[in-house]
Amino acid sequence: MVREPLIDGHDRRISDLRVSVTDRCNFRCQYCMPAEGLAWLDRGEILSFEEIERVVRLLAEMGIEDLRLTGGEPLVRRELPRLVAALTKVPELHEVSLTTNGYLLERDAAALAGAGLSRLNVSIDSLQRDRFYAMTRRDALPQVLRGLDAVAAYPHLRPVKVNAVALRDFSELEALPFAQFARETGFQVRFIEFMPLDADSAWTPDQVLTGEELRQIIHAVHPLEELPREPSATARVFRFADGEGEIGFVNPVSEPFCSDCNRLRLTAEGKLRTCLFSMHETDLRGPLRAGASDDELEQIVRDAVWRKELKHRVGEPGFRQPARTMSAIGG
Ligand code: SAM
Ligand code: SF4
Repeated sequence: MVREPLIDGHDRRISDLRVSVTDRCNFRCQYCMPAEGLAWLDRGEILSFEEIERVVRLLAEMGIEDLRLTGGEPLVRRELPRLVAALTKVPELHEVSLTTNGYLLERDAAALAGAGLSRLNVSIDSLQRDRFYAMTRRDALPQVLRGLDAVAAYPHLRPVKVNAVALRDFSELEALPFAQFARETGFQVRFIEFMPLDADSAWTPDQVLTGEELRQIIHAVHPLEELPREPSATARVFRFADGEGEIGFVNPVSEPFCSDCNRLRLTAEGKLRTCLFSMHETDLRGPLRAGASDDELEQIVRDAVWRKELKHRVGEPGFRQPARTMSAIGG
């Protein structure tokens, strides 16, 4: 069934959905979670696979084309490949992708590839074991790199993107090793500016190492040429002028891309969020479990999307950090 496209109150067409499949995580990244973890949701509070599939099917009828599964750490959700297999059968979707910390990829790469996953992003903040540990509070770099190797065996899972959060006084030293890594492996490395979604609410503007600063560090050694950019793409992507490889910069703080934002998020417990920084969210789980029809759910989604924020206010006076951390939203 085809429904009217999802348009927000600022005339943006919504075509990208991020679904968080769990709030749990096996890492404790400094910029995302407290060392002791968070109070996890109970099992009954999170959407079942069937509930997720129902929402995704409905939203796909309304024009969602790209679906990304995230968390928390999505691979700690039991039987995730079973969900992937169900979602890749939704006819309107062009792509079903996954963002993961990679710890369980060695175990799951074959099952994910077999389930029809389109591609994945793996988060790695440093290629040096001690610095990886400092950032994630887990001594897991070798395990994550084995996961990347496992993915490399499936050529249809391309491009593989490696995401690194950039923090001032830390990531300057990561720029050149990651550039080398991108040149050697064919994985597209992307630096993401640190956003105020950390559990400790310790974010300050001076901790943001901008994409442009990193680009300059790399360009001085390996000249870069910018590639054309899709309007709703979050990253500015460059290729190395003298050889293989690409490197990208996601700059939500220094160069917000809100005017082209086409994204919608569904949290693990079924709340619809129209912006990473929303102070307001819309419950879908209640209506779903109370027996709402697809038409009723459609109206709830449309009303929420209509109110999608024009832009985020990070860095502006009066900005308030949302209570949810990145791990509880689904980055
Ligand atoms: N656990 C998976 C992972 O780390 O890839 C998926 C969920 S994680 C919340 C999604 C992405 O958000 C990761 O690339 C992570 O590095 C990024 N992220 C988390 N907290 C962030 C923050 N405060 N600022 C910028 N990016 C952040
Ligand atoms: Fe876990 Fe991902 Fe957050 Fe790190 S960024 S703590 S891996 S959810």
